[in-house]
Amino acid sequence: MKLIFWGTRGSIPTPGKQTVKYGGNTPCVELRLDDNNLVILDAGTGIRNLGEKLIETGDSINAYVLISHPHWDHIQGFPFFKPAFISGNEFTIVSGETKSVSLPDMISDQMNKVYFPIQLNELKAKINFKPIGEDEFRVFDADVKSIYLNHPTFAIGYRISQNGKSIVYISDNEPFDRYVAQSVRNVEQDIVNKYLECKPEPNQRVFDFVMGADILIYDTTYTPEEYIDRVGWGHSHYLFSLKVAAEGKVKKLILFHHDPSHNDEKIDEIYKKCLKEIKIRDYPFTCIVAYEGLEIET
Ligand SMILES: [Zn+2]
Repeated sequence: MKLIFWGTRGSIPTPGKQTVKYGGNTPCVELRLDDNNLVILDAGTGIRNLGEKLIETGDSINAYVLISHPHWDHIQGFPFFKPAFISGNEFTIVSGETKSVSLPDMISDQMNKVYFPIQLNELKAKINFKPIGEDEFRVFDADVKSIYLNHPTFAIGYRISQNGKSIVYISDNEPFDRYVAQSVRNVEQDIVNKYLECKPEPNQRVFDFVMGADILIYDTTYTPEEYIDRVGWGHSHYLFSLKVAAEGKVKKLILFHHDPSHNDEKIDEIYKKCLKEIKIRDYPFTCIVAYEGLEIET
């Protein structure tokens, strides 16, 4: 399998000379399965550039789009994804939904005519929806597993396996803390219960999910110092990212979902601290930082 990163930034696009090294587009990763079938991980603003590349060939496109959750930074590129405007193309959008908002509504609401000139039902490509929870399903010739993460309302992590290799995509996840969970009320209660039932360490759910993965793409939004003031916002600090990789015995960790306030220099500094920590703790995995244009194979 092969990955190409088109958007690595969390929360909001951050164009400008301070972010050229790691990029300013919000999450979108192109995953090519061994048979070259296309799976797109999230539809942040990075998907616009991916769309430009895809239409260059003129071939019709049939792809899956695995959306982690419907916060703006993970769906806002979709209305600018040109292949969705071309008849003969087909996209299957996969994600969760809540009791009150369906998956099709989560995608189409942002294109409501008050906010956007073209409506979802005007797109020329065939758009299918596959609502999921914690499931196991097939995407082309690959096996996919999904898990609910600890993130406001909900967010889903995906594990894609093919021919003995596994890639895990966890864009937004916060360390689960029992005491914090009692006071934070913005995650769906069913999901909170799943973590509370996991004893003694609720985060073991996530450690088990990533177990042995060849590549883990993981939320590294904050420094530990920043996290103190952002508990309940749904993101990890880099020490927890390293812990997930270590507990889950992954082979390679890719730091992802960079905070919009972190310029290239700050991300370099975080990476240096991660490498130091990995050395001190003798962690066996390798670690790199996601940047726009990064291509990696497993
Ligand atoms: Zn996000």
